[in-house]
Amino acid sequence: MKPLVTVERRWQIAIATAAGVATICGGAGVAYAGGGGGLGSPSPPELSDVADAGTLARATGSKRPTGAGFALGRSRVNPETAFFDGERPIRLRYSFRAQRRLDLVIRVVERGEGGQTVRRWLERDLSPARIHRRRWDGRLQDGDPAPDGAYAFRVGPVGHAGTPAGKLALHDHLFPVAGAHAYGDPFGEPRSGGRVHEGQDLPAACGTPLVASRGGRVQAQGYSDALYGHWVLVDGLASQRDYFYAHLQAPTPLADGERVHTGEPVGAVGMTGNARSEFCQLHLELWPAGYRNGNPEDPAPLLRAWDEFS
Ligand SMILES: [Zn+2]
Repeated sequence: MKPLVTVERRWQIAIATAAGVATICGGAGVAYAGGGGGLGSPSPPELSDVADAGTLARATGSKRPTGAGFALGRSRVNPETAFFDGERPIRLRYSFRAQRRLDLVIRVVERGEGGQTVRRWLERDLSPARIHRRRWDGRLQDGDPAPDGAYAFRVGPVGHAGTPAGKLALHDHLFPVAGAHAYGDPFGEPRSGGRVHEGQDLPAACGTPLVASRGGRVQAQGYSDALYGHWVLVDGLASQRDYFYAHLQAPTPLADGERVHTGEPVGAVGMTGNARSEFCQLHLELWPAGYRNGNPEDPAPLLRAWDEFS
């Protein structure tokens, strides 16, 4: 994982200009909420929160940042299982009780030991009498997709570690065959004319829906009678990787340049092209540096990982 360089730099500047930060922190007895709702162990304040506390103290004219009686009300994260660039955006809804309007910090943290923050927002001047929402696009602070894993939201006043507000499993891909399937011819098998098999075959019942393993933009689609039959090529979002789906039953419903989200239909399993002499199957190719740039990679290890949760 890449460090949150941008944020740290920003707050280092803030700290350098906020001379009183250390005093505010040490002298005012800031209560760090630690595990919030009784979960987990107290965690030290983050560098960024220390700066926030100083900012808040100056803004309110108080030397002592306070949670103003903050208590998280109802909170919920939807969906509980999400996909990077999926059709359903990741949303936190929450309410809170406090004596006045507050600036709140929302964090997405890795679940488990350590619980590193992967994304953070400062929400200003929130009313305790309302329901609030925060969307997460599944990206780290630096814009890269968050790794496949388990995450939790935490919500709390500036200078506090926050209260657990909901959790989710985030997957960075989805298995492309939405139904029963087998693993057919593997990557790298010799083919006629000195070619090699550049993808993994996934036999499945004719007409089984196919979905985008990773959202992105349709780079091209077409028909090749000799080899691939109906095919579609998707340029993966936030990745150099391209995804090539072949032997589709019919032309993809997607148009050139169309935006497709992870899990959205790209077609159906068929036996067009040179699969016509065999059976219905998806032929999937993955091109880590883009289609026909460099070499394709063996999709099998990734497919088996996606298959576990799809
Ligand atoms: Zn194949």
